[in-house]
Amino acid sequence: MSPNYPLVLDVAGRRVLVVGGGPVAARRAAELAVAQADVFVVAPRICEALSELVEAARVEWEAREFSPGDTAGTWLVQTATGDATTDAAVASEAAASRIWCVQASTGAISSAWTPAVARGADGVLISVSGGHDPGRAKAIRDAVAAGIETGHLPIRPTRTVPNPPMGSVHLVGGGPGAVGLLTVRGRHLLAQAHVVVVDRLAPRAVLSQLADEVEIIDCGKAPGHHQMTQDEINTVLIDRARQGLRVVRLKGGDPFVLGRGAEEVLACQAAGVPVEVVPGVTSAISVPAAAGIPLTHRGITSSFTVLSGHDGIHQPATDSTRTQVVLMGVEQLGQYTAALIVAGWPTSTPVAVIERGWLPDQRTTVGVLSDIREKTAERNVISPAVVVVGDVVALRTQLGDLNGWQS
Ligand code: SAH
Repeated sequence: MSPNYPLVLDVAGRRVLVVGGGPVAARRAAELAVAQADVFVVAPRICEALSELVEAARVEWEAREFSPGDTAGTWLVQTATGDATTDAAVASEAAASRIWCVQASTGAISSAWTPAVARGADGVLISVSGGHDPGRAKAIRDAVAAGIETGHLPIRPTRTVPNPPMGSVHLVGGGPGAVGLLTVRGRHLLAQAHVVVVDRLAPRAVLSQLADEVEIIDCGKAPGHHQMTQDEINTVLIDRARQGLRVVRLKGGDPFVLGRGAEEVLACQAAGVPVEVVPGVTSAISVPAAAGIPLTHRGITSSFTVLSGHDGIHQPATDSTRTQVVLMGVEQLGQYTAALIVAGWPTSTPVAVIERGWLPDQRTTVGVLSDIREKTAERNVISPAVVVVGDVVALRTQLGDLNGWQS
């Protein structure tokens, strides 16, 4: 077997002959049509997939057998008649005119082969030849495609374009902190990013998997070590996108749950910057889960409320059967539990405070409304933590910590 020479062809507007009317011919004709080739099919009969292409005027068809002279004026020939003698006749006419010919039926004596192909964004194309073993080529192609899809292959553009077009901003919800809880779409976008603007509570361990040339802007530790303001964050997102760069705004949890995500979307939209939102696994639900606390459970409760403790908690719930989840609630915990008791909640209602959920040093402190403040103070409980109030907390004794797959 001689070593082969790989090429990528621009067939747009060029005549390509497809001989044969079955599913293989149909597949090749469809791929050639996508590549905008001028596709001409010769076959006495054609399958349904091919007739659809003919009806859609994407390929031209003549209902007859191959006849000498058909390859004239073509740049490329694809023969897939299912009959080795016809395929050989097509191939030999093509060879006599020095036209490359792909023979589907007898791959080994072809002058050209179609590889297995995986495509990424921006025209990235990976083509695999399996050494005349199409199954092997497909298996390799699938593995590469999965790497592209999950963001484990470096598909970030490396060429700087003169007068770059507008870049883009992608708000990615990073989940509660474990890299395994980042979405596939989020990881895929990170692999394409030129710039990552990251929050303190985002899954920061993923940053070490990115290429060295990716610019990391840490909102919690800006130059001068101050925390960036929302305006500064919006400005940097817009500024980098205007330089033609792809910007990932990597946030903790879900961007639209107490995350100021919508403010960033509005700022980008006002500046005319294309913006995308990728939801994330919110800490409101996932951090209690890590500690074995479901927010709803049949026979206990079917609803929950998520509150922010940031500026004081102003709406103590009167329905004591509804699970209460408080984010940013550690500082206001005493005030909040007192308000629930005043609102009529039994002092014995279980409460859990889960610090650093899904991180290696996750810790849960459990008490009841009347003593949780004291217990958290004793253990020096600090932010980030999620507070859960309600009878579902008691399930923790049966379920136990559920973040075990992490270790
Ligand atoms: N958008 C985020 C919430 C941002 S507010 C989300 O959907 O999760 C920040 C608060 O989220 C923290 O103060 C804390 O209450 C909570 N939080 C986020 N990650 C956490 C984690 N890993 N463990 C415990 N609490 C967390």
